[in-house]
Amino acid sequence: MNIKEVIQNAYHKIKDIDDKGNLASYIPELENVNSACFGVHISTIDTLNFGVGNYHDKFSIQSIAKVLTLTMAYNILGEKLWKRVKVEPSGTAFNSLVQLEVENGIPRNPFINAGAIVIADVLLSNLDNPKEDFLNFVKTLSNSKEICYSEKIATSEKSVGYRNAALCNFIKSFGNIENKPSEVLDFYFNLCSLEMSCKELSNLFLFLANDGFTLADNEQILTRSQTKRINALMQTCGFYDESGEFAFKVGLPGKSGVGGGIIAVHPKQYAIAVWSPKLNEKGNSYKGMRFLEEFTTESKLSIF
Ligand code: GLU
Repeated sequence: MNIKEVIQNAYHKIKDIDDKGNLASYIPELENVNSACFGVHISTIDTLNFGVGNYHDKFSIQSIAKVLTLTMAYNILGEKLWKRVKVEPSGTAFNSLVQLEVENGIPRNPFINAGAIVIADVLLSNLDNPKEDFLNFVKTLSNSKEICYSEKIATSEKSVGYRNAALCNFIKSFGNIENKPSEVLDFYFNLCSLEMSCKELSNLFLFLANDGFTLADNEQILTRSQTKRINALMQTCGFYDESGEFAFKVGLPGKSGVGGGIIAVHPKQYAIAVWSPKLNEKGNSYKGMRFLEEFTTESKLSIF
């Protein structure tokens, strides 16, 4: 089997389907992207790097960044982290407030907004210069200096971020936010605004396919057990209220974002990033998910 051929065939097959998705419109700036963009890039443990379509173009990675803040916070706090956030799928919308009331401000998992806001708070409490230190961490992981926050996207999200502000204040009322909500939210909106290409993303996420070690310089980012746990969280909670469907159809741990990006990881083998901005009704990239289903079916490279 030739992986490049499988990717090319799947790409061309999905490129021409009717895109039934819609752009994320609740963050105004996210509507200003070219919805026809479609890119894919794979990076493998045995150093294959291959992309098709718009795989060099930067896009707003949004919630994909939550895996990176989680990695950094886990690195700093170790197992104590799980006192602040749980590891169960939520079964509710990514920006929902309802469970927090009965669960005393402890979010269900680090990938729903409530959980990611708590993780942002952990980083604020533990880093000297949170924005700069987090960006440097991401640059080290990806072996690229070309990664930046988008001030435009962060400002756009901040201007309409009422629900995230409500979540942060609500969690603070239970004592599970240590810093000022305005500072936590500023950091949260910035980290969601990171812009990367499919190529940068698949390179970066290879450490989760490589037992927690970066491929380029063999630096240990997480222990093997921590790596397993982050992959497990991506498998069970990485796709909003569609994580079961993603496991069912694609069969890989991963994470999506409302910018239309998806990263998926096959432990010990590869990381693959897809970007197509229009989202299905559950908030995952319509073509991205269809592409990955086709790719793992044809390549037989899924974990199940
Ligand atoms: N910044 C977005 C929000 O908080 C992230 C959403 C996402 O990609 O899931 O609504």
